[in-house]
This record gives sequence, structure tokens and C-alpha cells, in this order.
Amino acid sequence: TGDGVPGRVRVAVRLRPRNTEERMADADFADCVELQPELKRLKLRRNNWDSDTYEFDEVLTEFASQKRVYEVVAKPVVESVLDGYNGTVMAYGQTGTGKTFTLGQLGEEDTSDRGIMVRSMDDILANLSPETDSVTVSYLQLYMETLQDLLNPANDNIPIVEDPKTGDVSLPGATLAEIKDQQSFLEMLRVGEAHRIAANTKLNAESSRSHAILTVHVKRSVVDSEDVVSTENNDVSHLTKPSKPLVRKSKLVVVDLAGSERSHKSGSEGHMLEEAKSINLSLSALGKCINALAENNAHVPFRDSKLTRLLRDSFGGTARTSLIVTIGPSPRHRGETSSTVLFGQRAM
Ligand code: ADP
Ligand code: MG
Repeated sequence: TGDGVPGRVRVAVRLRPRNTEERMADADFADCVELQPELKRLKLRRNNWDSDTYEFDEVLTEFASQKRVYEVVAKPVVESVLDGYNGTVMAYGQTGTGKTFTLGQLGEEDTSDRGIMVRSMDDILANLSPETDSVTVSYLQLYMETLQDLLNPANDNIPIVEDPKTGDVSLPGATLAEIKDQQSFLEMLRVGEAHRIAANTKLNAESSRSHAILTVHVKRSVVDSEDVVSTENNDVSHLTKPSKPLVRKSKLVVVDLAGSERSHKSGSEGHMLEEAKSINLSLSALGKCINALAENNAHVPFRDSKLTRLLRDSFGGTARTSLIVTIGPSPRHRGETSSTVLFGQRAM
């Protein structure tokens, strides 16, 4: 695999533990996968005798803690954001396999359950100086190629604007909430989630059919380490003066992708079909970008969907990107698990 290639997407796979139903109903059946975490390998069962083997950057079993998942998948991206680079962490997988648990869990009852969003914010806040640095976040959902502000749902047609000179992507009109501490962040996530449920009920859509996008903007004052020689007024008594602080901006984007399950083509029509097409479009555009980066292609087709246009400045290039693919153990979902695993393999 291309470890160390700049811009390459790092891919981890995470297996969800069996739920009660799967423990009962499928008790006599083996899981559809077998993990070899120390070899970073996953074996996908073909039948009782044969399996196909895949390698990933990290293989996380059903026993992996949220803390470990954070450290392996997100911490390197967060560290690079603190150093001034953009970064993306995203979760891909069938509905019910643990994308939201992995990224968005608030851990209100049990703090060890906290997901990547809360842990990333904790790490960011711990590394900033409150007097000179700031953190703001926006929280959006992308449904049927339309971007809606989850902090102000009336704002439901946010444009994606790319600066032609710098390539920076901005979302004019999206609410930017200033985050001072963990409490204000948890509160913002709760508000966003409540708005997401309400907005989707109105649209008659399931939350699992939209992408949820959290962007954390970090602004840090960095003092230029080189002394500036003052020539002003030929004042030789002050050969150096305090360097003026520079503001360094970077952002972390966390994306809880729409469920990757294939819609049942024959059964879907009207709105459902349009919805399925739109999810297909964005996820396959994402797959093509990941693939192009893995192959070091000069052309990465970011333009093909809103999802990839939005990620353009925080994906590939100098940005660090981690993809976590989530899978379930059930032998019934072997087909979906297989296509999820293959999606993750496109980046390797
Ligand atoms: P998705 O967002 O992919 O649809 P969820 O995150 O909602 O899936 O997970 C489905 C269910 O499985 C939830 O009840 C969640 O709490 C549980 N779950 C997912 N991953 C894990 C895990 N690693 N350990 C324990 N429970 C999990
Ligand atoms: Mg979810």
C-alpha cells in the first residue's frame, strides 16, 4: 500500500459487535468476516471453506474502544489541523453499522462512549490559547444535492463557493457557532441533531439518507519565529522588534455519510428513486476521488458532486484524510459488507 504518499486517504475498517437480535437469531452462524488486527487484515467469508483477504491501514475489532478508534483514525488528522493544515475524517457504511456511534456519540451517560467529534473538539480546545485563538463550527446536512444549515434550518439552500485564486471552499450564510468549551459544543451538537430530525420529518426522509457535515474552523495566532529587522526611521537602537502575530486558519471536516446500502432498484420509484440516485452520485463521486488520490492521478474529479466540491480543500493535497468504513457482523449482510469493504479498498 502507498503509506507515506502525500494526500493519500488512510483507511480503517471497524466491525460493530453483534446486537441482541443478531446474537439470538444468528447464534448458529459465524460472522461474515474474520479480523486479524495485528496483520491489519480482514477476511470476508465466501462460504464455509473459502474467504477473500483484504488489507487496511487499521483493522478495528468489535472490542476496539472509542478512545482507541479516535487515536487511530482521527488524532493524526486533528494534530495536523492544529499545525495549520486542513483535514477530513469520514465514516462510510451501511445504515446500522456504527457510523454515527463512531463519529457523533455524545457519551452523556458514559463518557467513554464519546465519539470522534467530541474527542476532536476536546483535543483542539486543550491545545489552543483562549486569549489569542478561536474555534467556530458549522453543522450542515446535504440531502438530494441541497445543503441545509442544521443550526438554522430555515437556511436550506447554502451555496458552495470556491475561491478561484486560493482554492479555499466557503459556505456563505452558514451559521458559525463559537465554541468556548466542551459544554457549548455538546449543546450545539444536540441542537443540530434535533433540527436534523425535525427537518427530515418534514421532508419525509430518514436521517440515514443524508450526509451530516461538521466543520471545525481553527484560528491561531502564531508568532513568526524569525526576528524582523527594523529599518523604520533608521532606528538602530531597535534592531529587532516583536514580530507581528500571524493568524493561521485551518479546518477539520467530519462527515457522517449517508447509508451506503443499495436501494432495491425494482422497488424504488418517484422520490425514493431520486433520493437513491443522489446518494449514489455523491458516494460514487467520493469513491472516484479517493481512487484518483490513491493512484496519484493529476486529475481528481472533485466537480462531480456537491459532497466532493465541499471537501475539495480539505481532502488530498496537503490535507490529511481518514476514512473509517463500518461493517456489521451479520451473515445476512454479507453482500452489503462486501461492497463496503471494496469501497474502502479503492483507496489502498
Ligand atoms: P449508523 O449511523 O451507521 O446507521 P449507528 O451508529 O446508529 O449506525 O449504530 C447502530 C446501533 O449500533 C446503535 O444503537 C449504536 O449504538 C450501536 N453500535 C454501533 N457501533 C457500536 C459499537 N462499536 N459498540 C457498541 N454499539 C455500537
Ligand atoms: Mg447514523
